[in-house]
Order: sequence, then C-alpha cells, then structure tokens
Amino acid sequence: MAILEKDTTDRGSTTATFGAETYQFDTLALHAGTDPDPTTGAMLTPIYQTTTYRQEAVGKDKGYTYSRSGNPTVAALERRLAALEGVEFCSCYATGLAATTALCLALLRAGDRVVVSQAVYGGTVRLFREVFEQFGVEADFVDTSDDRRLTAALRRPTRFVFIETPANPTLKLTDIRSAASLAKQAGALLVVDNTLLTPALQRPFSLGADVVLHSTTKFIEGHNATVGGALITDDAALHQRFAFARNAIGAIQSPFPAWLTLQGVKTLPLRMARHSESALRIARFLEVHDRVTKVLYPGLESFPQFELTQRQQTNGGAIIAFEVEGGVGAGTRLMNSVRLCALAENLGAAETIITHPASMTHADMPLPQREAAGITDGLVRLSVGLEDPIDLIRDLDQALSNTK
Ligand code: PLP
Repeated sequence: MAILEKDTTDRGSTTATFGAETYQFDTLALHAGTDPDPTTGAMLTPIYQTTTYRQEAVGKDKGYTYSRSGNPTVAALERRLAALEGVEFCSCYATGLAATTALCLALLRAGDRVVVSQAVYGGTVRLFREVFEQFGVEADFVDTSDDRRLTAALRRPTRFVFIETPANPTLKLTDIRSAASLAKQAGALLVVDNTLLTPALQRPFSLGADVVLHSTTKFIEGHNATVGGALITDDAALHQRFAFARNAIGAIQSPFPAWLTLQGVKTLPLRMARHSESALRIARFLEVHDRVTKVLYPGLESFPQFELTQRQQTNGGAIIAFEVEGGVGAGTRLMNSVRLCALAENLGAAETIITHPASMTHADMPLPQREAAGITDGLVRLSVGLEDPIDLIRDLDQALSNTK
C-alpha cells in the first residue's frame, strides 16, 4: 500500500512506495494497486460484474460479501487513487456528489456547522443549502482565500472546512497549508476538493489536508465516459466511517465505471501536462484578444494569486475563465459559434468543453452568492482538451469574431 515520502516543498512528493518498491508518480498511475490476475495472468483487472460472493463457510469469505459493501474492481481503483494522493485509504462512489454526501453523513450530526469556500461547484452548494440544511446542518460560505475571513468564520464551532482550490469556475485559490493550520487550531478537519488539479498537479496531503475529495468524472477518468467520486484519507478511522456511510446509503461505484476509470487514470500525468501546456497558450492568446475583457488563469503572471499558484501547484491547470466584451449577449454568441469546442457541462475531458456557469453548472447557486463569488453572467469557462492548441485557438478566434 502507498506511503507518501513526505517532502518539504508545498507541491509535495511525486513518489510513493507500494509493495517493496518506491515508484515515481507516472509509474504509480499505471501500476499502483493492481497485479496481473492470479488465475489467468490477464494484465487488466477484470470487471467483477457480480452482486455476491460465494462463502466457504459461515463467517468465512475472501474479503467480499456483497457489491454494495465492496467489489474487487472498485477496490483496485481505490488502491490506485490512494497511491496517487500518497496516502493509505480511498473509497469510490457512484458520483462526486455521492462522495460529498457520504462525507457529510459520516461526519455531521444535526446542529453541526461547516465552513465551505464561497466559490465551489454549484452542486456542492445545492447539497449543503437545499439538502443538509433541512437536517439541521449549517453551512457558512466564506471566502477561504482570505485568512482573516476564514479565521473569523472558525470562531464558531466547526466540524470541517471544505475548500475547492482552484474554485470552479472562478479559479480563485485557497492556500491549503494556511487553511489546514487554521482548521486544526479550531479543532476542525480540512477537506480539499482536488478535482480541478488532481494529484498530478497538487498534493493536498503534503500541505495538511485530512480528506481529499474527487469527482473522478473529470480529469481522473478523463474521457467523458463515466461519473464517479472518491474520498481519500490517511486516517483509518475516518475511512471506516466513510465506508460505513457508503454501505448504509448504497452509494458505491459500479464495477464497469471503476474499470474505465482504472484505464483512464493511467494517462493522467501525460494528459495533465498537455492540458495545462495548451491552457497556458490559449490563456495568453485570450489575454491580448481585443474582444476579451478579462482572463482568469492561475498560470498567467496577471493572475491575482500568481505567487500562490507557483508555490502550491505544479502549473496553472487546464481550466480558463474569461469574459467577453459585450457581456452576456456576446458570451452567448461566442458559445453558440464554437465549432470544435463543445458547448456542454462537465470539464476535465480529452475533448475541449466550453460552459456558461451562470446558466449551466452554477444555475442553482443563489444569485447573491454567485455575485459574491464573482460568477458573473458573462463568465465563460473553458476546459482545455487534448486537441492541437492551434486548432483550438483558431476556433476561439472565429467564435470571438462573431461576438460583435
Ligand atoms: N467537485 C467539483 C469541483 C466539480 O466540478 C463537480 C462536478 O462538476 C463535482 C465535485 C461533483 O461531481 P459529480 O458531477 O461527479 O457528481
């Protein structure tokens, strides 16, 4: 099982041990947690499409009893993802939001309070505001990029701090090391949604996080083929509670999406390097385009938190947010004019996706929170795919010329 070699840089270690060996991140992405099938030698872990497992005698099983509690294909993915984040434990879920639901059910009781980054995925806001509030859980949405505000929010008892960095879709960063230390002083856990960067570009556990959450739907699987989620931790007791909640509510991932994710994650380091290299080129192109009024990309020197990008992330990542001259109307014309980029929900896929957060991914976020988080009606989100950046730039250029 994986053990992170702690290292002193904020970006964390890229090596981990499993079995008797220490391997680099790229090798772990291919091999960690799986062995050739002992019966046939099959290289790929089989899809264990089974509900149940025949037991040798009462109380004598081979570690699996029923696929709502655990499944060997899902377990292989869990070992791989834990190794990539550099810790021991992972549990996989039907979707990213199923993972967030299990997190909350495992850790919260009526009367508890949590602090959540103001700018987070809209579905996360909806879950806290419209589901868990009904059960007596209070969620305070706070600008966690500002230490003073986080400190003030933590004066009241807090069960956990939930941050997303970079935040979807504004890309605002939270300093993970600082948030971890403030949470710890307040007796709260720190949960980091690492979906936008993945462990290929950001290592929350080396900065003090207690739990990492993923929507594996995005870069981890990477091919627009599955939905899935994961909760990762180095704490055995927390992991037990997540596994209990997952079994109790029936939120485990199915074997086939887990198998697809196991194949997708093999190329994660290669894809993240290419996504982010192209994203920087496109961000530079947009920054000087006369139809573009604002570009938010953590890898640009003009990004307000560029210093934190350099300290905390390997690079700027794959997502760009920008605004077009002419506001909502012009943004709509842009999104209706693209030919190669796909107008769609989701991010993190091989194909480039363009999204209008205010009407799509963040439509359920209350307007005052959307405004406070900087999600303007004219904001466009671009998830840069693996196409040749020259073709993407040409497509965006022709679409921008239609915005006048
Ligand atoms: N976290 C982030 C950052 C996301 O962008 C999303 C979905 O867009 C989720 C969590 C939820 O994941 P899922 O759609 O797999 O339920």
